[in-house]
Amino acid sequence: MESESQRSSSMSGVRKNNNDIAADLLTKEKNRLTAPTSGSGSGWSGPTSASSTGASDKWSVPSEQQQQQQGKEGGSTSTTAASLSEFADKVKTEVRNVGQKVESKLTGKTSSDTSTTRSSSSSSSSLGDKPTSSPATYTNEREVEQKSGVIGEERIKTSGAHRSIWQRTLPTAPSFPPLQRDIAMQEGCDTVIIGAGISGLTTAYELIRKGRDVVVIDARQIVGGETGRTSAHLAYYMDDTIEDLMKKHGIEQTRRIVESHFDAINSIETIVKRHNIDCDFERVNGYLIQHKKSADAEKNIDKEWDSIHKCGVYPEAKLIPSVGAIEGLNSGKAIMFPHQAQFHPTKYLYHLSKVLTDPNNEEIKQGAQASIGKCTIYGGTHIVKYQGGDGAYVQAKQGHKVFARNIVMATNVPLNLITMIDSVAPYRTYCISAEIPKSYRERHGSALFWDDVDPYHYVRLVRGDDAKSESDWLVIGGEDHIVGRDHGVAPAQRYANLEQWAKERWPIGAIVDRWSGQVEEPFDDIASIGRNPHDHSNVFIVTGDSGMGLTHGTIAGTLLSDLITKQASKYEKVYDPSRHNIRAAPEYITHNAVTQLQFARWLAPLHGDVNDIEDLPRCSGMVTRDGLKPVAVYKDKDGMVHKCSAVCTHLKGIVRWNDDEKSWDCPVHGSRFSPYGEVLNAPAKDPLPKCDPTK
Ligand SMILES: Cc1cc2nc3c(=O)[nH]c(=O)nc-3n(C[C@H](O)[C@H](O)[C@H](O)COP(=O)(O)OP(=O)(O)OC[C@H]3O[C@@H](n4cnc5c(N)ncnc54)[C@H](O)[C@@H]3O)c2cc1C
Repeated sequence: MESESQRSSSMSGVRKNNNDIAADLLTKEKNRLTAPTSGSGSGWSGPTSASSTGASDKWSVPSEQQQQQQGKEGGSTSTTAASLSEFADKVKTEVRNVGQKVESKLTGKTSSDTSTTRSSSSSSSSLGDKPTSSPATYTNEREVEQKSGVIGEERIKTSGAHRSIWQRTLPTAPSFPPLQRDIAMQEGCDTVIIGAGISGLTTAYELIRKGRDVVVIDARQIVGGETGRTSAHLAYYMDDTIEDLMKKHGIEQTRRIVESHFDAINSIETIVKRHNIDCDFERVNGYLIQHKKSADAEKNIDKEWDSIHKCGVYPEAKLIPSVGAIEGLNSGKAIMFPHQAQFHPTKYLYHLSKVLTDPNNEEIKQGAQASIGKCTIYGGTHIVKYQGGDGAYVQAKQGHKVFARNIVMATNVPLNLITMIDSVAPYRTYCISAEIPKSYRERHGSALFWDDVDPYHYVRLVRGDDAKSESDWLVIGGEDHIVGRDHGVAPAQRYANLEQWAKERWPIGAIVDRWSGQVEEPFDDIASIGRNPHDHSNVFIVTGDSGMGLTHGTIAGTLLSDLITKQASKYEKVYDPSRHNIRAAPEYITHNAVTQLQFARWLAPLHGDVNDIEDLPRCSGMVTRDGLKPVAVYKDKDGMVHKCSAVCTHLKGIVRWNDDEKSWDCPVHGSRFSPYGEVLNAPAKDPLPKCDPTK
């Protein structure tokens, strides 16, 4: 079953650029959200001629209007998109007003009170000056979760309840101590990096090789974010298709984008070799295959092949009649891309963290531009405030500050309220790993696969321990949808869909792992890496990773370290977060209009939730109301009820319960909270306020 959100856009870069679909989506979403509350109408007057193409096809033939657009390199907003934009703005204003009015009635705050977080953040680069009244620390939260059994015994904690294959197969995880004192400017910290995923740790690595001292801080431990939940394809075939990239960026820029991902894989390979990292890095072929063998799908493959030629990228790619050697994978015409790669991400970064913090490491000096700087890593330290400019610092929830000349936010989603957040769409994507006989690898080797459907499937092999296990594992991913908007398709069904799809193609056995994670889809398909817009020039970000966050994160390492050390970078302009085309794409307008419609939940019944707390199963949650006030109720393993406000502390969306990963997810900008209200994913920085559990 294909959902509305799936058809609008996905991590696969489906990007149909189709304004008809956009308008249709808006109308449907509006109807869906407002239907149950007659009289809730707040005067919307959307486009009346919205037509549905019903197109589920990723590469559907472009409309006349699109064809005109294709002629213009870099993509420009069409007339329809402009009127849609006006409509989106109207919806935005109307719905936000409604949300604010309802909230001010409930809380007694005026609408100007409720909007202070936005305006204060735009006038200052700090995260806001409110005291951080967090009810519990991450450590306490973990204790509660361990006690309740919601999160298992695995060593690395990431942002969801399910354990990924990378968590399961990393025997020991590093543990860095929390920050327990201020670090003053005189101590010489050049750069403080918030976030110890691939982006943060690679940036730290490149900076210390350029002679800078860095401090890395993570709210959990290293790879505690999406890097611990990835599928770990290292591809320079772009998941948004060359056709789409050329439309949005033009030929020259597309070549540069491809080149930057190519460089990123080389750079990972160099680091692996330099430090002899045992992380199963291997070069593999990647295959773009048909979802289902058909004439239409074949046309799509041909079209992408033409685009590749027009752009002049991937000279070694081959159009092949079939990936026929693999039994079951009779997919018809496909494109083969040599020299892609794969690795084990947590093994890679665990080792890298050891290199970073070992002052006696000799290999790190190889080819370095200066004497090696120092790196200190702190775990379990949640940053709630930062300030750029002279005397720049970051401040932890417990109050300690680190002063530094530069700040890098490698937090996946930056800790600011508005500057970047509306240029990405947060998606949840699902993975399973299944046993596959070792004989399969012996016969066919490893390879990466992606298909042409929206959302696309992504597949790779992971080596089992040759001495200990009978099988390898096949990791299959897909089923993406916008965070908090699953359109009625339960995660269990999504995992089952992945299993079924894979079974039809590969000789898989039992399912071993199931997990999901979050990706931030930028509207022009590439990450934002560089100076934080509208901020001091010493504040840097990396975000909008899309399904290519491992290579984007590695590009960030080189690019940000170049910017910080004032060296030229050929990729500075490409990834500049202030570039204009992020917001020129029709997807931007559509997504933001639909996003604003989520505020209508303030007025609608809270669908899909259990009616009575008594009926709520243990280890699950529901949104209910106390009077009119939305309340997030979680019943733990022991039957104890915990209540928080269900109003996201970012921009007041109403959270939804994610029963699969045991979190509260906000459908507005993708903030996520633990069952007890602690922040799991930005942009929210404050927890959900606690409510009295007895009421
Ligand atoms: C299921 C799935 C499959 C994927 N497949 C691929 C793939 O095949 N190839 C690919 O290239 N990419 C893939 N991606 C994307 C890729 O994994 C991510 O984009 C990438 O790992 C993000 O790295 P990061 O370092 O930017 O963010 P993260 O790994 O999320 O690191 C951010 C860190 O910041 C910390 N943090 C956040 N807020 C704070 C705060 N306030 N204070 C302190 N610390 C904070 C977090 O704890 C976290 O550790 C996939 C993603 C998912 C979920």
